[in-house]
Amino acid sequence: MADPHSQPEPIAREPESVAEDPNARLVFERDLREVCATKGFDIAYQPQVDLRTGRVTTFEALIRWHHPQRGDVPPAEFILLAEEIGLIGEIGQWVLERACREAMSWPEDVGVAVNVSALQIADISLPAVVAATLAAAGLSPSRLELEVTETKMMPDDPVTLAVLRAIRDSGVGIVMDDFDIGFSALGYLLNFPFSKIKIDRSFTGKLPLDEHRHEAAITIVRSIIGLCKDLKIICLAEGVETKEQLATLMQANCTEIQGYLLGKPQPLADTLETVRNIPDLLRRLNIYSENVMGDAQQPLLQPIPFLQIAETANDIILVTTADLEAPGPIITYVNPAFTRLTGYTAAEALGLSPRILQGPGTSRATLDVVHASLRAGRPVHEKILNFGKSGAPYWLDMHIVPLRDAQGKITHFAAIERDVTLDKRRLDELEHLADRDTLTGIPNRRAFLRAMKSECDAAVARGLTASNVKGPCLAFIDIDQFKRVNDERGHAVGDAVLCGMADCLAENVRRLDIIGRIGGEEFAVCMPAVALQDARALAERLRCAVAGDAFDTPVGPANITVSLGVACYSPGDTVATLMERADSAMYVAKRTGRNRVRIQASKSTRRALKIPETVG
Ligand code: C2E
Ligand code: MG
Ligand code: MG
Repeated sequence: MADPHSQPEPIAREPESVAEDPNARLVFERDLREVCATKGFDIAYQPQVDLRTGRVTTFEALIRWHHPQRGDVPPAEFILLAEEIGLIGEIGQWVLERACREAMSWPEDVGVAVNVSALQIADISLPAVVAATLAAAGLSPSRLELEVTETKMMPDDPVTLAVLRAIRDSGVGIVMDDFDIGFSALGYLLNFPFSKIKIDRSFTGKLPLDEHRHEAAITIVRSIIGLCKDLKIICLAEGVETKEQLATLMQANCTEIQGYLLGKPQPLADTLETVRNIPDLLRRLNIYSENVMGDAQQPLLQPIPFLQIAETANDIILVTTADLEAPGPIITYVNPAFTRLTGYTAAEALGLSPRILQGPGTSRATLDVVHASLRAGRPVHEKILNFGKSGAPYWLDMHIVPLRDAQGKITHFAAIERDVTLDKRRLDELEHLADRDTLTGIPNRRAFLRAMKSECDAAVARGLTASNVKGPCLAFIDIDQFKRVNDERGHAVGDAVLCGMADCLAENVRRLDIIGRIGGEEFAVCMPAVALQDARALAERLRCAVAGDAFDTPVGPANITVSLGVACYSPGDTVATLMERADSAMYVAKRTGRNRVRIQASKSTRRALKIPETVG
C-alpha cells in the first residue's frame, strides 16, 4: 500500500518522462493495464470532520497505485490516462465496490465518499451499477457519496443530469469536488442535485490572506455557506493544513473540514482509531475554547447563558431522549415558545412522546424520513403538520439534531422549530392561483394539461389496449362566433359569457371530469375512463346545456352555442396528439354548421370500433 503521508500535488498530467517519450508512455500504459487486470491498486481513506459534533462524518476513498519501479504514482497522473484508454469504468467500479465493502466496518453514522470520473457519470447505467454495488455490500445509500469534479463535468449534457438525479433520488449523496470559490461555479448549485460541495484546496491553501483580502475572503466563504444552507447543501473546505486556515474557515461559519491538519489519507486499518481520536485532536487544537487565530485572550466561546436564550427564543425548542422506538422518545425539555404555540404547558408535555403533536394530516412519509436520519445519527430538516392541544393544526419548519456526549454517543435529540403556517397557507394560495384562470376561476391551460397528462399516464400504467379502450377522453369546446359577441356587445359582455360558460360546464360535467379554460373562447373537458360513445353523449349533453341556457351579462341574457370536438385516448397517444385530434374534430364541427359535436377517433380505435375518420 502506498505511503499515504507522501501526498503528491493532484495536477492532471502525465509524468514528464512519459509526456516526452512515446515509448515511456507505452510502458506506462502497459503497466496500468496490468495493474488494472490484477486489481493491484489500494485505497487510502481521508477523514472529513464536522467541527460542531467533533465527529468523522465521512472518509474519502483515494485510490493508490504502488508501482514496483516508479514508487507511488499520483492518481492525478494515471486517472487521466485511464480515461483516455478506456479503463476508468473498470477502475471506478473496483474502487466503488471495495470502498462500499470496507465502509461496513465503520460506525453507522460514518459514510464513504468515492471519486467518480466525468466519463462514469456520462454512462446511463451508473445508477443501476451503484444500486447493485450498495446492495451487494449491504451498505445503506445514505452512507455513500459520489464526488464529481466540477471542471470536468458536462453541465449541458442531459444524460449526466439524468444520471446524477437518479443517483441522488436513490439516497446517495452527490458532491461537487474542487468547488471554485470564484462564483463561476454557482450556476452548478442550481442545476445539479448536489448534497455537498468541497471548497477547493487551492483556495484553502491561500488562507489566511493579507489584512484587506482576509475580510473579503471570509465574507465570500460565509455567503457561500449561507447559500448552501438555504439550498440544504453541506459546504466542506478541503486541504486544511494549518490552525490559521482552520480559524479563518471557522470565522466564516465553515464547520465541515478535510485536510492534513485533521487526518491524512490512511490505510483502512487506521480509520477506526481516527474516528475515536478526532474529538481529542479537536480539543488539542483548542477549537472550542480559544480563538485559534492566536489571540488567546479572546475565547471564541465565552460561557453563554444557553438556558436564558432557549427560554426567550421565539422559535420552539424541544428536547427528547434518544430512543426512537415506542414509547420513546420522551420529551425532556420544552421552552415557553412551545407552550405559546401548542397550548401544552411544560408540566403537561414533559414525559410524553412528541407523537401527541401528530394527527391525521401529519405525513407518514416525512416522519419516516425524520426517523431514518435520526437513526443514522444525522440532523434532519423538514416541514411537517402538527396539532396543538385544542386540535388546531399548524405547520412547522423543523430542524432536529442529535446531541452527543463526550464519547460520541447520542443522548438526546434537540428540535428547533418555527411556526410557518402563514407561509404555507400563502404558498398554497399562490400555487392555487397559479393553476386558476383569473377570469373564470376554473383550471387554466397549464393545470388542465397537467391533469390530462396524469390521466394519460394512468392509462399507460393500466396498460390500455385499443380493443378495451376506456381511457381518458378529451372534449375541445369553442364558443361559436364569440368574436362577434365581443365586437358587437363589448368586452364586459364577452367576459360574462366566458364566466357563464365556465359555470355551465361545471354544472353539467360528472364529478370525475376536469374542466379547463385553454385560452380565449376555448374550453376543454377531460373525462377519465369513459368509452368513446359515452364521451360523445356527455359532449352532446354539454352542447344542449349551453344552447339551452341564457348567460347573465351586463346588458341582459345572452344565448350562445358551442362546437365540440371529441377525441378518445388510444395506446401511444400523448396529450399533444389527443389535443390535435380533438381540435381538428372541433373544426369539422365548425365547418359543418356549428352547434354540434364531432368525434375524431385514432386509427386503432377506428379499426377496433369500425367507425369512419370523423363522425358526428
Ligand atoms: P480530490 O478528490 O480533490 O482529493 C483530494 C486530494 O488532495 C487527494 O490527493 C488528497 O490526498 C489531497 N489532500 C487532502 N488533504 C490535503 C491537504 O491538507 N494538503 C494537500 N496538499 N493535499 C491534500 P490524491 O489522493 O493525490 O488525489 C488526487 C485526485 O485524484 C483527487 O482529488 C481525485 O480527483 C483523483 N482521484 C483519487 N482517487 C480517485 C478514484 O478512485 N477515482 C477517480 N476517478 N479519481 C480519483
Ligand atoms: Mg475528491
Ligand atoms: Mg478535491
